[in-house]
Amino acid sequence: MLPFANIALIGLGLIGSSIAHAVRDAMPTARITGFDSDPDVRARVLELGFCDDVSDTAGAAVIDADLVMLCVPVGAMTDIASEIATDLPDDAIISDVGSSKESVLTALTRALPKARIIPAHPVAGTEHSGPDAGFATLFHDRWCIMTPPQSAAEGDIARVRAFWEKLGANVEIMDAKHHDLVLAVTSHLPHLIAYTIVGTASDLEDVTRGEVIKYSAGGFRDFTRIAASDPTMWRDVFLSNKDAVLEMLQRFSEDLSALQRAIRWDKGDELFDLFTKTRAIRRRIIEEGQDDAAPDFGRTHE
Ligand code: NAP
Repeated sequence: MLPFANIALIGLGLIGSSIAHAVRDAMPTARITGFDSDPDVRARVLELGFCDDVSDTAGAAVIDADLVMLCVPVGAMTDIASEIATDLPDDAIISDVGSSKESVLTALTRALPKARIIPAHPVAGTEHSGPDAGFATLFHDRWCIMTPPQSAAEGDIARVRAFWEKLGANVEIMDAKHHDLVLAVTSHLPHLIAYTIVGTASDLEDVTRGEVIKYSAGGFRDFTRIAASDPTMWRDVFLSNKDAVLEMLQRFSEDLSALQRAIRWDKGDELFDLFTKTRAIRRRIIEEGQDDAAPDFGRTHE
């Protein structure tokens, strides 16, 4: 049996469109109604055809839904929740895919105090955005972290879990605050570092921008992929997960200062020990199937 029969997707960018493609593959009889605030996106989604219906308002999209999935930037969650408040059916489950969880839960609970809210975060993505960027296998063998509030009904949690498992994800349940701390170090801090390095390189005076691009294969290139991620999404992530990001940034700055000292005082052993430890972490990520071991990150060089 399908966990949901009428799915409303609000926000039809990378994640919304990937969910739609994945639902089409895994639950072909489920009906998908979409809405996006951008009329050009709505028109494009009609052309691409991955929704059964595209509504002109968020309220119209949710009116018959048994699952409403908010796939908008984290900073837009409050507005969209208020927009659907009068049309959201009492028995619908409302979920989201936001990259930070505590602030989203607070926003949704405030705007929709009686709603059945089961937040989740699929830990899967690319640096691309928009409705053309989505694909059905995005969630295969990726983690989806659900952060249901204490008051959530077990049956509701089970249905959202079944939904994500059907899309190919492995599901883990976590407290929202803990999720935000974990993701601050595994995702938010790396993005901040990538944005900083690429920003610093583009501001250098003694090295031209042309040289930075020409010789980027030395490591810089991989940071540019992360730093190409959507500016709206990432602005919202940092502002909504401020405490955890600042805490991790403090730890990172201290560790960076220690490295600076090790280089200044020729402490090669300290550098070697740290690099050996970090290499082992990379090995574990590959062993656990979270990345592949192809040389040069799987790039082809024909
Ligand atoms: P995206 O490709 O930029 O798509 C977001 C879409 O939502 C855009 O079309 C945007 O329109 C639309 N939108 C913005 N405000 C809206 C509103 N109030 N009502 C309806 N539509 C609205 O972004 P995404 O990568 O799919 O990210 C969506 C969510 O998934 C975010 O909360 C993000 O944190 C989370 N997430 C992202 C990733 C990732 O790697 N990208 C991974 C996991 C989770 P405009 O372009 O006109 O603003």
